[in-house]
Amino acid sequence: MIPALEKPITYFKGVGPKRAEIYAKLGIETGYDLLCHFPRDYIDLSDQVDILNAPDNELCAVRARLARKLSPSFARRGMTIYKAVLTDDTADLTLIIYNNEYLFKSLIEKKEYILYGRLNGSFMRREISSPLIIPADSRDLIRPIYRLTDGLSQNIIQTNIHTVLDSIGSEIYEPLPRDVMRENSLCALSYALENIHFPRDAHSLQVAKRRLVFDELMTLRLGMTLLREKSRTATGCKMSSTDISDYFSALPFELTGCQRRAIEDCCRDMCRSWPMNRLVQGDVGSGKTAVAAGAAYFAFKNGYQAALMAPTEILASQHYETLSRFLEPLGVSVALLTGSLTPKNKAALKERIKAGECSVVVGTHALVQHTTEFSRLGLVITDEQHRFGVDQRDTLASKGENPHKLVMSATPIPRTLAMMIYGDLDLSVLDELPKGRQKIETYAVTGKLRERAFGFVRDRLDEGRQGYIVCPMIEENEQELQSVKEYAEALRKGAFSNYRVGLLHGKLPAAEKESVMHSFKEHELDLLVSTTVVEVGVDVPNSVIMLVENADRFGLSQLHQLRGRVGRGQYKSYCILLTDNVTEESAARLKIMTKIADGFRISEEDLKLRGPGDFFGSRQHGLPKLRIADMSSDTELLRLAQQAADRITSADPTLSLPEHAGLRELAEMLFRSDKKGEESK
Ligand code: ADP
Ligand code: MG
Repeated sequence: MIPALEKPITYFKGVGPKRAEIYAKLGIETGYDLLCHFPRDYIDLSDQVDILNAPDNELCAVRARLARKLSPSFARRGMTIYKAVLTDDTADLTLIIYNNEYLFKSLIEKKEYILYGRLNGSFMRREISSPLIIPADSRDLIRPIYRLTDGLSQNIIQTNIHTVLDSIGSEIYEPLPRDVMRENSLCALSYALENIHFPRDAHSLQVAKRRLVFDELMTLRLGMTLLREKSRTATGCKMSSTDISDYFSALPFELTGCQRRAIEDCCRDMCRSWPMNRLVQGDVGSGKTAVAAGAAYFAFKNGYQAALMAPTEILASQHYETLSRFLEPLGVSVALLTGSLTPKNKAALKERIKAGECSVVVGTHALVQHTTEFSRLGLVITDEQHRFGVDQRDTLASKGENPHKLVMSATPIPRTLAMMIYGDLDLSVLDELPKGRQKIETYAVTGKLRERAFGFVRDRLDEGRQGYIVCPMIEENEQELQSVKEYAEALRKGAFSNYRVGLLHGKLPAAEKESVMHSFKEHELDLLVSTTVVEVGVDVPNSVIMLVENADRFGLSQLHQLRGRVGRGQYKSYCILLTDNVTEESAARLKIMTKIADGFRISEEDLKLRGPGDFFGSRQHGLPKLRIADMSSDTELLRLAQQAADRITSADPTLSLPEHAGLRELAEMLFRSDKKGEESK
């Protein structure tokens, strides 16, 4: 790093303690931080319009000759108004400047200027007030626009950034190895930094941006690898190769090839001296639980306990049932630890866990993670990783005697992205569904067909099957809750008056949720009206139909998750997506659902349609905030940067070689800078 850039920004001329405080609000503390405060946009002043055709009251640039200056007028006390007339041979334009005598005097008659601002006034007499004015022969036609905060202006930031850039002077700093630059046709860092702020032209800007995006993605990838390497220096619970074929033969079904491979991956990992850190990614219904149970059984055979943590109580109790079913016949004692236990029972259970009498403990995150002592915890399994961040991954790793970690995620993410987001984890992909799964017949229809759709649902219930009706509850507030309750009541009294209808929503007390879910599983209910709490993981194979109200309010991936609640048994299953608000866009989106069954492809389509947005928002994954790269649109660079990073770390996994010192520093900085500037958006 260039020493000047590591200095606090007060070191630079024009930045005093007061301004430094303002910059701190943007997370900017050093010269380097300031240079990394990239413009959020640019104005291109070479894109000019005629005065005659300039849009009314919209930002635009015109190029005009200063015809004459008018004499100043004095409006209110202390306010001087300067005016001048400019022309571009299509029309005249009156320039109005308030108070800025210095600027006004600097303007020269007959000279050409570019003015950027809003044109107002009448058709005959167009005016522009306080525009940005630059000489027409200026080379800086592309101007940066920065994210601001109170007390800063575009001008101040530009001036300060200029100062910092100047301070680098002729020092050349280049953290990237030469061959990486050459192979990926990247410009020098100093060129990139200068042109991202003050681009010479559109091409330079593009070249600069490419380099900086590459750097950021590569740094991220390197950082993830460093995290992984760090976790490998810890001592784990080294297990030894153990036969678990009795698990395979005890299962009520034949495992798919990829399920078996995933279990083998886990067993192999757990025999290493460092803790396993593995992600099992599989579409809904791919059978992740059977993989988890296999891994838990391996730990059990090695004399270790295993814990499985689920995000909700419903899921915890469901996993408990599955794991007991798979493992109890093999002599494994499985326990369920949830908030709905009485304090006495909870305490007793915790004693048994501590004494090592329970081999597999299933529960919610809060309980298992924070309040439970184990006798010999060897494996921690987490369901639904995407709710976690890197930080949490870290705390899990550092807990106790470094148990092995297995994470199950049903969020289908295109592979390159998954490699980035989960770069610190090893990956097993379940890309094959168990045999005999049928395609879920999916229809997208408008509210006009609601009654018919209800009739279709009733037919299924009459055949002895069960179904879901899902209503979106976006805000989870009282008002929405009320309308969900009313909706359920209307169904109970109307279309489904002859059926047993249950209601499930996130605001129900845990015990009640539990009992509703239990009744549904036991087929004491025919129809479950629910908010998206059924989204993750609920498994009732007798359910064959799902009707989704206001389907346009869900993302495609979420609809896919929801839809995965049916089609889990031997019966033909259906999903009906209802919308009252049909736009061309929503129709196109829902149509995708009717055509594509594969979660990975759906997530790709979703990405295309919804654009970057926060779908892959880094926050959601607990990754450092990216300053310039966009993982959903910079896919080609993502691939290149990943390749380059992996080539470097395969030779030098901890970036310890002197020639990689700069890269290491950047990677560490990226993860550190994430802690700063949180409040600024
Ligand atoms: P998910 O990956 O969505 O968590 P689950 O683990 O809940 O999937 O499994 C979905 C259903 O498929 C469960 O009822 C499970 O018992 C069943 N299942 C899992 N693996 C197989 C298999 N290889 N063959 C048949 N059924 C399976
Ligand atoms: Mg699951």
